[in-house]
Amino acid sequence: MPDSAKIFRELIKTARGRLMQKAALGSESWFRCGGRCGLLFQPADLKDLKDFLAVYPKDWPLMVLGGMANTIIRDGGVRGAVIRMGKNFSDIKVEGTKITAGAGALNGSVAAAAAKAGIGGLEFLSGIPGTVGGAVCMNAGAYGSEVKDVLLETTAINREGEKRYLKPDNLQMSYRSTVLPEDYILIEAEFEGQEEDPEIVRERLKDIKVKRQETQPITEKTGGSTFANPEGHKAWELIDKVGGRGLKVGGAQMSEKHCNFMINTGGATASDLEALGEEVRRRVREETGIELQWEIKRIGEKA
Ligand SMILES: Cc1cc2nc3c(=O)[nH]c(=O)nc-3n(C[C@H](O)[C@H](O)[C@H](O)COP(=O)(O)OP(=O)(O)OC[C@H]3O[C@@H](n4cnc5c(N)ncnc54)[C@H](O)[C@@H]3O)c2cc1C
Repeated sequence: MPDSAKIFRELIKTARGRLMQKAALGSESWFRCGGRCGLLFQPADLKDLKDFLAVYPKDWPLMVLGGMANTIIRDGGVRGAVIRMGKNFSDIKVEGTKITAGAGALNGSVAAAAAKAGIGGLEFLSGIPGTVGGAVCMNAGAYGSEVKDVLLETTAINREGEKRYLKPDNLQMSYRSTVLPEDYILIEAEFEGQEEDPEIVRERLKDIKVKRQETQPITEKTGGSTFANPEGHKAWELIDKVGGRGLKVGGAQMSEKHCNFMINTGGATASDLEALGEEVRRRVREETGIELQWEIKRIGEKA
């Protein structure tokens, strides 16, 4: 087995993007807590990513992250390498009613580009923090629309550095879930909306902004909805019913404003967040018989 110092020396020879050992990962997540990762790489471009993959051992753990708006990084950190797709993969191209965006483009930027070009149907993306890669992986959605409705195709590369094209049908997209073949790294996605008056689309973006400000703790350190809505129920109603609103464990709290949002009130650890979520799940299970499923991804090792 090659040793990690040797691999790092190899990687650093070609890497043009940000490459760091023992990088503080959790503090860059929306929750602003959690551990480090063995290696963090933010590729400068596709070639840089392929060069990395050619050197990084195929049987070592590798994870891809975007904006970390849906992710708790556990306190013990993440083993192996984390690739973050960010602004180097954020190009957005508009052609007619189609929009092609890099996996690192912000959802908000895609919605804004669509509005500017007079493309309707992608407004829901405007209030969803994070990147296009994360949105495709989570089949992100809001206000009755989801990525599945507007995705034409996504491009990924595998660990061998080969490009793969996937249509929604190949991704088994369902409510907040996409089944991506293991080790695929999304690099781009193509969406299609419909022709609309740019002014009307812009008005819808404004409405969404106001709605979010009124109903969600968007200025807090949070990860969005903690639990997926179980079939026929709203997670927040179940949480409210069992006294979850405002419930605290250490520095973690279920938001008073939207009780399916968990927040780091200051000094929360990832373990506080997870323990709070599990306490809420326990209460809901015992009082209603319903098993809440985590929507937030919990990544890495416990401390
Ligand atoms: C205030 C707030 C409000 C929110 N509101 C909503 C909402 O209304 N609707 C909703 O659906 N979500 C919402 N979320 C959650 C979050 O914004 C979405 O899930 C978003 O799509 C996450 O994108 P990300 O880039 O941050 O993904 P990350 O959190 O970085 O990753 C999420 C998952 O995607 C995978 N992934 C990310 N990028 C790639 C890639 N390039 N290739 C392969 N895999 C990848 C990761 O491995 C991980 O499994 C909200 C979050 C916050 C903080």
